[in-house]
Amino acid sequence: MTELGEQLRGDFPLLKQTVYGKPLVYLDNAATTQKPLSVINKLTEVYTSYNANIHRGVHHLSQVATQAHEDARKTVAQFLHARSEEEITFTRGTTEAINLVAQCYGERFVNEGDEIIVSTHEHHSNIVPWQMLCLRKKAVLRVIPLLPNGELDMQAYSALLNERTRMVAVAHVSNVLGVVNPIEQIIRMAHANGTPVLIDGAQSVAHISVNLQALDADFFVFSGHKIYAPTGIGVLYGKADWLNAMPPYQGGGEMIANVTFEKTTYNQLPYKFEAGTPDYAGSIALAEALRYVQAIGIERIAEYEHQLLQYAEERLREIPQMRILAAPAHRSGAISFLLGTQHPYDVGMLLDKLGVAVRTGHHCAQPLIDHLGIPGTVRISLALYTTKQDIDAFIKALQQVADMLL
Ligand code: PLP
Repeated sequence: MTELGEQLRGDFPLLKQTVYGKPLVYLDNAATTQKPLSVINKLTEVYTSYNANIHRGVHHLSQVATQAHEDARKTVAQFLHARSEEEITFTRGTTEAINLVAQCYGERFVNEGDEIIVSTHEHHSNIVPWQMLCLRKKAVLRVIPLLPNGELDMQAYSALLNERTRMVAVAHVSNVLGVVNPIEQIIRMAHANGTPVLIDGAQSVAHISVNLQALDADFFVFSGHKIYAPTGIGVLYGKADWLNAMPPYQGGGEMIANVTFEKTTYNQLPYKFEAGTPDYAGSIALAEALRYVQAIGIERIAEYEHQLLQYAEERLREIPQMRILAAPAHRSGAISFLLGTQHPYDVGMLLDKLGVAVRTGHHCAQPLIDHLGIPGTVRISLALYTTKQDIDAFIKALQQVADMLL
């Protein structure tokens, strides 16, 4: 195994610490990633060198900040292989981006009796906004069920598509099980039905190469903090035709072309959905994070993490009464498990005392956890700085926990 993680972890200052006197083993990357020094320095650079409100200023600093923010939009567009930067809207994160689409697309295109399809895998942020839309418009939420191995039941999906289907909204990768969904096929089938697709890329963008022109997704959303960028910045990619056809999300500065008390006209893309002062420090730092990932190469990261995840899965099987949840053909980033009948919280708390950070509970995917008939899971999730030593230290700690609890 090439130790990419060993080479890179020095770039991440936070990882150097000890917790309860033990070296930190950070395996909660699906919740949020740590930041490389270059990203932290970029935030400092903005605030020490050219902080000024963007777009509206004639002065030098404002122009520098505006240029950096718009360059960041270009970097995001290139990273996702979007057609143009006007298809990139900055948001606070995945959650806000999905709410934006549910509200604005829904306002224009969803009517009583129409149907929205989501999957059993979804994070609450890709369920609740659609549920709220359904309540508002008297539409119906349909759910793609899972096969016993945790993959989507594609036959059932096919049967759900019909002339009332107005949107298919699915995760690229499940944040609980790490299952990689066949989004190419999902998009093809939806398009054959005349239905647009929103892909929740929160758990894929840092792990899998995304080419939106090849995928032909109508909407793709992700959060910066899951890909080594600061919190509070995220992205909505939308095909220009859809975004142009949708009413604006919030009203305010920046999203307008002209305002009178009688009538307001709206700005063109990409500003139409960016009301108010955007998080330009965040967008500039996000671009830095994407450059960091690009310099390593997302394919190389994917290959490295894949080997590490397989290694983690093999080693987990050494633990007595181990129950690894789901057995999909493709898994990325995360593994969920249970230790016998022990509550996930107890396992997570004991691991914490041994310096290992994992996440336990329903992972904001209660319907999935209910479907699995369990109280929650223990989840480990990897990043490009995770090492084989991290996995070995985690397994050693888990063995100790098993000795204590079983
Ligand atoms: N979708 C998925 C699959 C996620 O894993 C998450 C966060 O864990 C979200 C959406 C929500 O992301 P955020 O809280 O950054 O908006």
